[in-house]
Amino acid sequence: MNTVVLKFGGSSVADNIKLNVVADKVISLKKEAKNVVVVVSAQGKTTNQLIKEAQELSAIPEEREMDMLLSTGEQITASKLSILLNRKGYPAISLTGWQAGIRTNSIHTSAKIERICIDRMEKELEKGKIIVVAGFQGLDEQENITTLGRGGSDTTAVALQVALKADKCYIFSDVDGIYSADPNMITMAKRLDEISFDEMQEVADSGAKVLHNRCIQIGKKFDCSIIAKSTFLNEGGTKICQQIESSEVKSIVKNDKLVMILMEKEGNIEEGEFYNIYQNLLQNNIIVEAFQKQGNQVQFRIKETEQNKVQEILESKYLTYQIQQKNFVKLSIVGYGITQDNQVLNQVIEILKKRKIEIIDIYLTQSKIEILVKEIENDSVAELHQKLIKE
Ligand code: ASP
Ligand code: MG
Repeated sequence: MNTVVLKFGGSSVADNIKLNVVADKVISLKKEAKNVVVVVSAQGKTTNQLIKEAQELSAIPEEREMDMLLSTGEQITASKLSILLNRKGYPAISLTGWQAGIRTNSIHTSAKIERICIDRMEKELEKGKIIVVAGFQGLDEQENITTLGRGGSDTTAVALQVALKADKCYIFSDVDGIYSADPNMITMAKRLDEISFDEMQEVADSGAKVLHNRCIQIGKKFDCSIIAKSTFLNEGGTKICQQIESSEVKSIVKNDKLVMILMEKEGNIEEGEFYNIYQNLLQNNIIVEAFQKQGNQVQFRIKETEQNKVQEILESKYLTYQIQQKNFVKLSIVGYGITQDNQVLNQVIEILKKRKIEIIDIYLTQSKIEILVKEIENDSVAELHQKLIKE
């Protein structure tokens, strides 16, 4: 094998003991591949800690300064891992995102990679060095440091795989692959050997924190498969790849971190006002789902993590409204082609009906059935899993 990219997440590099495990893993893969490029995340909860410290200094720190600050986390890991690999007798060099040639747009805290100039990396690889790249960062046109958004090191790794035309890209973490449901919730959940990019995208969008969304998009665009594996186990792993056709349920995701906002006003809501509400939320970078108006009510869904921000925006601007929030659960049943006929949907409705679970809304895409319910116990999800997912 010529080139491999290996990415290690924050919990895999959290301390010196774990860094030693990672270094040994890198070395064992270096014995198989000529060129090894490693991408690392910040250690443990470093990024959260840095955000907290910045917010102690200012309630709204400048995004440019946040990028400057947060990018240091990954640099610490990269240099430590290089120090360790060198000591173990495997010449390595750490590179920041910009030293690795990663150029982005200027959207601080969620920049997109525009191009990667691989000259420096090629030079180091020619010297036989293992390269350790600080993930999640780049440089914009004006040479400002940028970051790619939380979890962005996965995206760095897959982008490097594309730029370097690497044979494989492993995303190592503390889980041994992608599961048919959250194994902490559903004991019969099984690890998938393969999942398609589209399905993986739906699983990630449904709220399962497995891979950074954008790395899946890059993998799909350039048809580069990604292997999600455990840092600490040799066996297992899931390949995320192009799949021609299948029509089975791959995964069920329960996401209860959603809130429905109901805004009610005496009298009618003007069309202009309706748009204003929407625009106000968008301008504040709130992800809004299912925005709709019915008579004197406006209704939409947001993520629970954005609840406080949304509340502040609405309460400061829309005094004439009565604002209510309701928690609900989103069930996502993922599998390419499962909505082509009504078989799966029928089975789902049958089970929910039997268990007297009230459905608020159903939404279908090519690879997903999304159902909103008020609440659902884990044993009902387990029954869905048992009926819908093949052993
Ligand atoms: N350190 C960053 C974060 O915690 C990026 C990453 O881990 O991929 O979000
Ligand atoms: Mg991550």
